Amino acid sequence: MNEAITASAKALLATPKNIVVVGHKNPDGDAVGSCLALANTLNAMGHEAQVIMPNDFPDFLKWLPDCEQVLIFDKEVEKSTRFINDAELIFTLDFNALDRTGDMVQPLSEATADFILIDHHQQPDDYAAVIYSDTAMSSTCEMVFHFIDALGKLDLITADTATLLYTGIMTDTGSFRYPATSATTHRVIAHLIECGVNNAEIHQNIYDTNTPDRIALLGVALQNMKILPEYRTAYITLSQQELDENNFKKGDTEGFVNYALSVSGVVFALIFIENKQEQIVKISLRSKGSFSVNEFARKYFNGGGHTNAAGGRSSLPLDKTITEFISILPSHKKELTDES
Ligand code: 5GP
Ligand code: MN
Repeated sequence: MNEAITASAKALLATPKNIVVVGHKNPDGDAVGSCLALANTLNAMGHEAQVIMPNDFPDFLKWLPDCEQVLIFDKEVEKSTRFINDAELIFTLDFNALDRTGDMVQPLSEATADFILIDHHQQPDDYAAVIYSDTAMSSTCEMVFHFIDALGKLDLITADTATLLYTGIMTDTGSFRYPATSATTHRVIAHLIECGVNNAEIHQNIYDTNTPDRIALLGVALQNMKILPEYRTAYITLSQQELDENNFKKGDTEGFVNYALSVSGVVFALIFIENKQEQIVKISLRSKGSFSVNEFARKYFNGGGHTNAAGGRSSLPLDKTITEFISILPSHKKELTDES
């Protein structure tokens, strides 16, 4: 974090403030971890910080320390809106555009508070007074660690706060294996373990809590996987009916797309998940090497993210979405097959 950003953030935090900390819709480990860790630290500094998420987060994150304190906007619209209206400062974490907060975009765009953005996604929008954006960062949790460090407040990181930060770094780096995992990331992790993190327990809490329904749904997803060797591409589909038959719960499909990316030779992987209630198909995209799924998701599927991990959506039915996707592939054949 550079000196200008540090000075602006310090100035905004010089006196005790009412603060709201916001993550993106469908919050993941990095969003929940970074928001709660930052709020804990701001509270320890004498501020009044409240975390608000646009909608609920999955059960596999419900063990996170202090997660019961998160306000869920779509369950408590009035209370959440009051907090946003009364806030003097709003942090937005782990997203790059206000519309990534779903219906919360309205009270947020009407808010009078100053905004501080902390995020590692590409092309951040220009709505914040302070923008700490770094697309080379492993995770927003790592950035929150650097933010706390820049404020000179590392001594306020408790074992619980360290657990929150560790979890977000671990989930966003695929357990420290994606290219954005740097030597600094590992130094941050070492510091967090010294703060009292039980790393083995966190891995178990996140990865070893599968339900039989989720494993059965994974079986269906793997059966549905199509491999297109001529495009070095693999994709998975899940229809609403298949989700219903396996008692789908939020978070159950997390990580499924990685099975498609794990096929030898594949550099581009997707999962298309039908959502009848929202009348969309939600798409997760992953790649290896230089093929940018951020650009692909932006161009064709109203989404975005990072070079190697992005999301998007289609308003067409599932079968038509797939037909459209297949028709797009030939125009990217060269990039996909030039990959080493
Ligand atoms: P996932 O596929 O795990 O939902 O998301 C992968 C990455 O892309 C995450 O960093 C997520 O924040 C981002 N992402 C997911 N969906 C969208 C979307 O609809 N729009 C944008 N801009 N980013 C998204
Ligand atoms: Mn993230």
